Amino acid sequence: MLQSTLFPQTQKTAPKDAESINHQLLVRAGFIDQLMAGSWTLLPLGWKVVTKINNIIREEMNAVGAQELLMPLLHPKSIWNESGRWDSAKEVMYQFKDIHDREYALSFTHEEILMDLLRKHVSSYKDFPIALYHFSTKFRNELRAKSGILRGREFMMKDLYSAHATEEDLMRYYEEVKNAYRKIFARLGFNFMVAKASGGVFTESFTHEFQVLSEAGEDTIYWKEGDDEAINEEVMEGDKSEYLSAKAIEVGNIFPLGTFYAEKMGFYFNDNEGNKKPAWFGSYGIGSTRVLGVLAEVNHDDKGLIWPKNVAPFMVHLIELGQGKAHQLYANLIKLGVEVLYDDRDIKAGAKFADSDLIGIPVRLVVSDKTEDKVEWKDRNSENITILTVEEVTAKLLAMQNE
Ligand code: ATP
Ligand code: MG
Repeated sequence: MLQSTLFPQTQKTAPKDAESINHQLLVRAGFIDQLMAGSWTLLPLGWKVVTKINNIIREEMNAVGAQELLMPLLHPKSIWNESGRWDSAKEVMYQFKDIHDREYALSFTHEEILMDLLRKHVSSYKDFPIALYHFSTKFRNELRAKSGILRGREFMMKDLYSAHATEEDLMRYYEEVKNAYRKIFARLGFNFMVAKASGGVFTESFTHEFQVLSEAGEDTIYWKEGDDEAINEEVMEGDKSEYLSAKAIEVGNIFPLGTFYAEKMGFYFNDNEGNKKPAWFGSYGIGSTRVLGVLAEVNHDDKGLIWPKNVAPFMVHLIELGQGKAHQLYANLIKLGVEVLYDDRDIKAGAKFADSDLIGIPVRLVVSDKTEDKVEWKDRNSENITILTVEEVTAKLLAMQNE
């Protein structure tokens, strides 16, 4: 991609009201743009990162046998009345009437929609287990929409739903998904903990949250030295001084929902003795646009963003200074399938380097009169500069791509 054509160009200063790091850096570097409080455009760079985040999530969902689909976002009131959530979730749900006085809501989650789908298609114990997921927009009337893209009124979520004939099978799958989530957040390079938490509007039993340790977090989690799982402050009992604690950002949440929804919505199946039984149900969410924001919060320095390789918008930022041979190198790298942002703009070297640090692409290559037929290599997360031949550069990049 030629940087002269990239939309939009970077900004020198952050918006005045930008309090959080992710808001400041992602806006300045041209990854996101704010329409209004809690509402964001994912610009081309931001959309590239979210696509890569989603693909990591997708691979791990497929690995636990889940199937991807896509459900509607405009929901009729009647469905939400069946569970009682039209009233109980009123504060978070956007509800409205059309010009014929028919009532609708915009999706803030999909349990009821999934239940409706399953009860139309499933009637026997032989049909279980079922695991379905989608990536889609969620709408929530958030009161505090101030932490940049961490808390949107409209945001992207991967939500997975599973249905089972027995409680044992639900809990078996719940543990599988918990492990899949651990893999996802490890692949994203997060320093995270699984924390026991309450279920909000979803359930009265415990749920598990995936919490990334960060000062920007709104949650506080507690654990004892050597513990594998933490506890969210909201369900803490006992003496806090006996625990370690940290601020954390919730990136995922999994819910063992039991038979509540099946009973409310009449999703029964015939077991192997012909008895009617309500299905066991679980739901599992990850906010992929929040993950974008968390990546910015935990991977930056005072100059800008520092993307991990597997989610970076490009692998290489190629910078042309003077009359170098950058164009030939650009063409060669593209041919090899390397993702390159090529700074072909006619501006000062200092401005190119500042943009490169701000955008945070993992490898910076400079071709200039000074480097002659060689190339200057610098990793974004290191100060070391090495001079390499074109062959060495391509070999190193190909090795990185196969990592
Ligand atoms: P929070 O406690 O932060 O308000 P939640 O517990 O209400 O979130 P869940 O219903 O558990 O959220 O949603 C699953 C995931 O969706 C969360 O773990 C988070 O990653 C993401 N998410 C939730 N609300 C938002 C939001 N307003 N903006 C962006 N992502 C969100
Ligand atoms: Mg949650």
